[in-house]
Amino acid sequence: MHFDTKVVRWGIEPDPSTGAIVPPVYQSATYVLEQVGRNKGFDYTRSSNPTRQTMERCLAGIEGAAHAVAFASGMSAVDSVLKLLSAGDHVVSSDDVYGGVSRLFNQILTRQGLSFTYVDSSEPARVSQAIRPQTRLIWVETPTNPLLKITDLSAIASIADQHDILLGVDSTFATPALLRPLDFGCDIVVHSTTKYMSGHNQLIGGVVLTNNDELADRFHFFQKSIGAVPSPFDCWLTLMGVKTLSLRMERHCANAMKTAKFLQQHPKVARVTYPGLPSHPGHSVASRQMKNFGGMISFELKGGIPAGKKLLNGVRLCSLAESLGAVETMITHPATMTHVDVPRQERLTRGLTDGLVRLSVGIEAADDIIQDLEQALESL
Ligand SMILES: *Cc1c(COP(=O)(O)O)cnc(C)c1O
Repeated sequence: MHFDTKVVRWGIEPDPSTGAIVPPVYQSATYVLEQVGRNKGFDYTRSSNPTRQTMERCLAGIEGAAHAVAFASGMSAVDSVLKLLSAGDHVVSSDDVYGGVSRLFNQILTRQGLSFTYVDSSEPARVSQAIRPQTRLIWVETPTNPLLKITDLSAIASIADQHDILLGVDSTFATPALLRPLDFGCDIVVHSTTKYMSGHNQLIGGVVLTNNDELADRFHFFQKSIGAVPSPFDCWLTLMGVKTLSLRMERHCANAMKTAKFLQQHPKVARVTYPGLPSHPGHSVASRQMKNFGGMISFELKGGIPAGKKLLNGVRLCSLAESLGAVETMITHPATMTHVDVPRQERLTRGLTDGLVRLSVGIEAADDIIQDLEQALESL
């Protein structure tokens, strides 16, 4: 089956009792046994639920993974991967990871005895150099948030292999429509299904995917032991969202390319970062490993924080919101929004400059998105 067919059909059969083409929502906490010791495959929804199982099968199919294990959020999915480790273990991580992920690593997991080294994983040599005898996991985000750095997954997978350590990839920005990290030798893939997978700003969810049976058993054990599970209704909404993943990603990518080109020639924009532009340092790796370049753009305004504030207050169609990966175009200014708590010097060292703006390009008409940015830029 082609990917475009899989997103619509994979793992979904007509409901056996009614023929309903849309799988029902099994909104039930528990399941009645036929007799002692005999159930119909389900006992308690924290352990398993038919709607969640349908979603897990569907997500595994489209990622090309043997197993998918669903969680209540992208963060609890990431946390479950780190639950594989024990006190004393060390992790080498991409330096430009999602803010919530670095908060989990630095403010919670370090207290539990894990340690982290952050490197620019777009340079594989830096990953190699950071590995210690205690390193158990390499954690990569590609493209990263918000600087859209690209990591060569084959290169990192061979480093991980060489040292016999796990490689986990947060593939939220790319989705399986554009990138399938397991094909490049990665062990674990994580998505915040809140973003492109469900796609409509309608829920919070996460999933962990792997081809490794032992790892999958451990993730299922974490799922039922910790209980950070998605509701059956959220699983159902995700199933509905995924059906249009291919179509949406096509439009997200096309709109982002047009918008990036528009911004690139605008006199009030100092720099545009989009992996689809040949000027992007990761362009050739992205062209090789991804099917297309995604819907996220960041750009640098001339005029720093005041310009950023003015632009964000000036947009009318673009929504001033902290999420990404949904049908609506959303715009954020890291210096005053997502990264306002990071000390300025640290922020600048990480490349999160005062005039940096992040755009999650939606699926509206590209001309409307561009016109909105144009009128807001005009006011600067
Ligand atoms: C949003 C996001 C997360 C966290 O997911 P939630 O569903 O918000 O918990 C993790 N990684 C990336 C790259 C994200 O964009």
